Amino acid sequence: KIKKEGGGSIAILSQSDHYKLSRRIQIEKRLLLALDHNDLHVMYLPQVDVATGKVIAVEALVRWEDEVLGTVSPDELIPIAEETGLINEIGTFVLEKACEQAAIWQRKEIPVKVSYNSSIREFRDKNMVKTIRKVLEKYNCSPSLLQIEFTEKFAIEAEGEQSIIGQMRKLQQDGVTFTLDDFGTGYASLHYLQLLPIDEMKIDSSFISSITGLEKQKKLVQGLIHLGHSLGVRVVAEGVEHESQYLLLKEFGCDALQGYYISPPISAEEVEKLF
Ligand code: C2E
Ligand code: MG
Ligand code: MG
Ligand code: MG
Repeated sequence: KIKKEGGGSIAILSQSDHYKLSRRIQIEKRLLLALDHNDLHVMYLPQVDVATGKVIAVEALVRWEDEVLGTVSPDELIPIAEETGLINEIGTFVLEKACEQAAIWQRKEIPVKVSYNSSIREFRDKNMVKTIRKVLEKYNCSPSLLQIEFTEKFAIEAEGEQSIIGQMRKLQQDGVTFTLDDFGTGYASLHYLQLLPIDEMKIDSSFISSITGLEKQKKLVQGLIHLGHSLGVRVVAEGVEHESQYLLLKEFGCDALQGYYISPPISAEEVEKLF
C-alpha cells in the first residue's frame, strides 16, 4: 500500500479497498439469486402516537440473510441496488409485502398503516403510479393505509423532474401519503417542504440522539416540530432510544415517534401481539 500526502497521489488498491470491491461484486451476484429465490424478507418498525401511546403505523424494512455473505444490512444493500438498478425489484418486493400485510391487518381490524421506503429510481419509471395502484388492488388494500417515504436526496433530484412530482400528486389524490424521511440530514430541506406533496416529515435520529444535551439542540428540535406544524405537516421523530427523549418530544408536541425505546423492527406476528 503506497500513500502519498498532498499533491499528486498514487492510487493503489489497498487491502481493505480490495475487500470492499470483491464484497460488492459478491453482493451484486447473490442479490440476483436472492430475488429469484425469494430470499429477502421484511421486518416492521412500530411507530406510536405520542398523545395516546398507541401503535398507529409500522415501517417496512428490507432484511437479507445470505448463506454466503451473512447479514447484508440495508445501509450496505440499498446503495448497491440503486446503482445496479435492482432497487426496482427490491422496491416491488417490499411494496407487495407492505400492501399484503396492511390489507391483512385491515381485515383483522387492526388499525395500522404501513410505510414503505422508496428510491427516486422507482419514481423515474413512468409506470410507477400504475404499478402501485395494481399492487393495492391485487391485495384489496386501501390506498390510505400506504405511506411512502423518500429522502432528501430523492427530493433534491425530483425538483427538476415534473413527472416525478406529478406521479406523487396522483397517488396522493388516491389517498396514499408521503413522508420526507431523515429530515435535516440533506441540503435545502426547507425549500422541499413546500415544493413536494408531503404529509409528514421524520426528524432524523441524529437530532434526536442529542436532544437531551445542550439547550441549543433542544431548541433546534423544537423549531423543527414547529416548522412542520406551521406547514400543516405531521412530525415524527425517529431513533428514540430513551425515555428522556420521549418525554421532551412529548412536551414539544411531536406527533409520533419510533425507535428502540418503543420497539426494534419485529415480524408481522409480533406486530399483531402489540394490539
Ligand atoms: P430509515 O428509513 O431511516 O429507517 C430507520 C432505520 O433506523 C432502520 O434501519 C431501523 O432499524 C433503525 N432504527 C430504528 N430505531 C432505531 C433506534 O432507536 N436507534 C437506532 N440507532 N436505529 C434505529 P435499517 O433497517 O438498517 O435501514 C436503514 C436504512 O435503509 C433505512 O433508513 C432506509 O433508508 C433504508 N431502507 C431500509 N429498507 C429499505 C427498503 O425496503 N427500500 C429502500 N429503498 N430503502 C430501505
Ligand atoms: Mg424510512
Ligand atoms: Mg428514517
Ligand atoms: Mg434514518
